[in-house]
Amino acid sequence: MNSPIITVIGSINTDMVTVTESLPNQGETVIGDQFKMKPGGKGANQAVAAARLGANVQMIGKVGQDQNGADMLKALKKENVSIRMVETAPKINTGIANIILSNNDNRIIIVPGANDKVTPEYVSQFKEDIRNSDLVLIQFEIPVDTIIYCLDLCNEYNIPIIVNPAPAKKIASDYWSKATYITPNESEYTQLFDFKDRSSGFNDKLIVTKGAHGVSYSMNDEYMTLPAYSVNAVDTTGAGDTFNGALAVALSEKKPISTSIKFANAASALSIQKFGAQDGMPTRTEVESFLR
Ligand code: ADP
Repeated sequence: MNSPIITVIGSINTDMVTVTESLPNQGETVIGDQFKMKPGGKGANQAVAAARLGANVQMIGKVGQDQNGADMLKALKKENVSIRMVETAPKINTGIANIILSNNDNRIIIVPGANDKVTPEYVSQFKEDIRNSDLVLIQFEIPVDTIIYCLDLCNEYNIPIIVNPAPAKKIASDYWSKATYITPNESEYTQLFDFKDRSSGFNDKLIVTKGAHGVSYSMNDEYMTLPAYSVNAVDTTGAGDTFNGALAVALSEKKPISTSIKFANAASALSIQKFGAQDGMPTRTEVESFLR
């Protein structure tokens, strides 16, 4: 069987991670413990997760004309993600996530930079590549207009599209119904879907991830929860990204929904046993032997 083609339309960031015992107060300077720069961004993370699991992954996105951009492209290439549709945009920085980790607390500032230039016009150049995909995967770190454009396009071409609404931003109900699957975590679910919405016809599209509590979804009006695997969590950063990348792979291989969710639960359970978002993402062999 040929590997399915998954197109990820989303963000590429450099994660700038500072680990510190104490956080500075206003006007104060503290000495931190560690600093690391890592490839990140929900789009790139999910693309890498899917590529490690054996899919043929191509990314549509943008980096800036700076060292971070060059490094992020190199990192994607190394993971066998096609960067043919990733443009290096002039006069703008590559997106960054400034992440401060302190004990069990994390504080994150994202500066989107080039990710804000992933416009509908830009994506429209790649219509044919989208039409030839087995599945499209998007997140909410690119402009809302682009998300809406992608939903319309996938509907027109009848291509399945997974929408991971992270970070949460409201879009009109009409658009949610155009998604094949919507994958919020619990807090995104609470922010985006109120009780009224829950009866408005896209209930069967929702796959809600609940950390250690597993995943809730409904099919044919039946509400089900699949438990998470019980593992020793070392770093849950990027658990949702691994989940989405893995879900995309299983669904693009036409696996049934419950099998696909189990596969994604297993991949994310493996990923959280190692530090770092992308560093911990498992290979296909690792997931298959875990499930055996
Ligand atoms: P996000 O990272 O987006 O906040 P979640 O925390 O819901 O998303 O995690 C996504 C998935 O990762 C969960 O549905 C589950 O499969 C897995 N996962 C996350 N945390 C744990 C955990 N502590 N133990 C086992 N699996 C986990």
